[in-house]
Amino acid sequence: MGSVLILGGGFAGVEAAIYLRKNNMDVTLISNRDYFYIYPTSIWIPTGGATRESVSIPLDELAREHNFKLIVDPIIDFDAKQKKVSLGSGRILDEYQYIVVALGQDKIKMKGIENTLSICGAPQEATQLHHKLQELIVKGSGKIAMGFGGNPTDSSAVRGGPAFEVLFNVHTMLKRKGIRDKFELTFFAPMEKPGQKMGDNALVMMDKMFAMTNIKKKVGSKITSFDPDGINFEDNKKIESDVTMFISAGTGHSVLANSGLPLSEAGFVVTNEYNEIEGFEDIYAIGDSVALLGPQWRAKQGHVAEVMAKNIGYNLFNHSQNISSKKSYIEHLNILCVMDTGDGAAFVYRDDNGGKMIPLPIVGHWMKKGWGWYFRNSKLGKIPRIPGM
Ligand SMILES: Cc1cc2nc3c(=O)[nH]c(=O)nc-3n(C[C@H](O)[C@H](O)[C@H](O)COP(=O)(O)OP(=O)(O)OC[C@H]3O[C@@H](n4cnc5c(N)ncnc54)[C@H](O)[C@@H]3O)c2cc1C
Repeated sequence: MGSVLILGGGFAGVEAAIYLRKNNMDVTLISNRDYFYIYPTSIWIPTGGATRESVSIPLDELAREHNFKLIVDPIIDFDAKQKKVSLGSGRILDEYQYIVVALGQDKIKMKGIENTLSICGAPQEATQLHHKLQELIVKGSGKIAMGFGGNPTDSSAVRGGPAFEVLFNVHTMLKRKGIRDKFELTFFAPMEKPGQKMGDNALVMMDKMFAMTNIKKKVGSKITSFDPDGINFEDNKKIESDVTMFISAGTGHSVLANSGLPLSEAGFVVTNEYNEIEGFEDIYAIGDSVALLGPQWRAKQGHVAEVMAKNIGYNLFNHSQNISSKKSYIEHLNILCVMDTGDGAAFVYRDDNGGKMIPLPIVGHWMKKGWGWYFRNSKLGKIPRIPGM
């Protein structure tokens, strides 16, 4: 049976390793980090409800539990035709029959972006955001702005939910400390209707939530640059801000740019619904690295990355056995998230039939905390997995 090299140790890479191992394939996973970072629960790091460690699973523990090999070393080059991967240490890997690309995505670089911190970037940025917010609280008053950007070439790479979550969590934290009135909170985004992917009902509800929490809103004008003291827009307006959290939209991973793999205009790997790549029989791509097929409202999400990964466990194994049966990810496309506010949450669901946003005061927050606990422990094999989760 052929050996498999998985590039990346996030939602897609780890789940692919688990499912390929279930079929007894010989699996090696490479990651630049020695931990699997659970992005959805990282939204509590800025307000101190979680730490980098508490939302991570050490990859060596996962490797031990599921019996795959682990290499912690950054990939600096990937030649798809030669199936050759070059690592930061100088090591070259070219002896694997199958390669699964699961490197996630990069972020669009905007002018002055170094004046911002993102909840969706390098994990250390979430911790830095926590420190900056703490400093502002010690100062006693200030202006905080949080938002997200668009990608005109791929709407599925726009990630807005975590911006809403972190902003509402900051509001709740300041309210609990009894100092909310000393801070100005602003949400910003360039599009006219940010969050529209979640459906029209959600937009109405978001506006109500902003009004209830006294969060200002600046939308509908392109962001031109970021300064140390704020955000500039095409309509010549500026939001003043002491702490700016900005989620730039996703773009293709830089390592894939020269890999020779077919890429979309936005730099994502072009695959079919079975995560196969035309012209590269032994290479598959999954998760955020992939140019997502499907409807306009589609979004790159962790649960979609995991469906692709499970399918690879099946499709790649079947390919190695000359069995033609394959699984597609298309029927599993939906938007599913519990949008946390620190004292509750809203359940968001979107599919071809439209969108729903259901408020879940108090219990929603604990549901999301519970999911984080379940996710970590089930991945480590300490508790059984619930089918479909
Ligand atoms: C704050 C936040 C909240 C979210 N909330 C939700 C949610 O509620 N529900 C949901 O479904 N989705 C959510 N998502 C989306 C979800 O996290 C992503 O869709 C998911 O992480 C994609 O998985 P992936 O494995 O493709 O990419 P990633 O998880 O980004 O993993 C990529 C992996 O590749 C590794 N890597 C990158 N570059 C290199 C390199 N050069 N060399 C070696 N290794 C490398 C990284 O270390 C990482 O291990 C959220 C995302 C964020 C950022």
